[in-house]
Amino acid sequence: MQYDRFGHAGISGRYTRDDIFRGADFNTIFKDLGFGFGGVESIFDMFFGRGSRRRYGPRKGADLRYDLSITLEDAAFGKEMRVEIPGFDTCDTCHGSGMKPGKDRKTCPKCNGTGEMRRTRRSGYMHFTEIQTCDKCQGKGVLTENLCNDCQGTGNVQRLHKMKLKIPPGIDNGHSLRLAGQGKPGDQGGPRGDTYVIVHVKPHEIFRREGSDVLCEAHISFPQASLGAKIQVPTLDGKAKLKVPAGTQTGTIFRLRGKGVPRLHGWGRGDQLVGVVVQTPTKLTRRQKELLNELSKEMEHEVEFR
Ligand SMILES: [Zn+2]
Ligand SMILES: [Zn+2]
Repeated sequence: MQYDRFGHAGISGRYTRDDIFRGADFNTIFKDLGFGFGGVESIFDMFFGRGSRRRYGPRKGADLRYDLSITLEDAAFGKEMRVEIPGFDTCDTCHGSGMKPGKDRKTCPKCNGTGEMRRTRRSGYMHFTEIQTCDKCQGKGVLTENLCNDCQGTGNVQRLHKMKLKIPPGIDNGHSLRLAGQGKPGDQGGPRGDTYVIVHVKPHEIFRREGSDVLCEAHISFPQASLGAKIQVPTLDGKAKLKVPAGTQTGTIFRLRGKGVPRLHGWGRGDQLVGVVVQTPTKLTRRQKELLNELSKEMEHEVEFR
């Protein structure tokens, strides 16, 4: 069942153990869901049983989702950040019962507690059943006049939860962090649900990430490509030197070992790949034109077709 794949995704947060990402296979977690974040909600709805009609007995609270945007640098090296995550607490007025003090939960007589009205029409051998929300209880299944005003009978109130969040080094776009026990309080004494923090890595000005490698382009001049040059390349942690040898062509890729993103489970770092693009000048001074004309005559380059 898909739920289990989320279940061992990772644990962090102030109420739980500090160990995050134990034994998680992150690459599969959200890729299978199409990586589209819009899709996640419906999966949660499907597996976490929102809208279930079961009303009695302990039931685990619903899971919640929180979207967090971080920079590529923070994703690469990890960060401990303070966040305020919307969550739910047990209502102080009714202590989670959802009822006014001294009042009992009274089943709605119109719908018998189902919250819905069914009307069946018969046409020959066919039955048509029309289902509508009960207008007496607004689908709640209990008499609304007894419900707690502060939580509208849900037993929970929405609140911001301040907490420290540990972003582990190497986390990637679409990964999730599970905050165990930070979801909605359960019904009838059931355990709290969990909160899933969905990580979104903001696009970077220079780098593109592919797994644990980072990619960038170095646009160099024709003289640099022809004669060779020593250039400085920005990396995730400062500048690095790169020697571009004489005669370098567009499309050549240089690899800076160990300059990529740390791997999530802690085995070294990926590489930085620097792709060379030789720039053709578009604005030339008179002097530059003269020099290029001279060079052109000297080279006598015939066009080659391959
Ligand atoms: Zn209440
Ligand atoms: Zn009703």
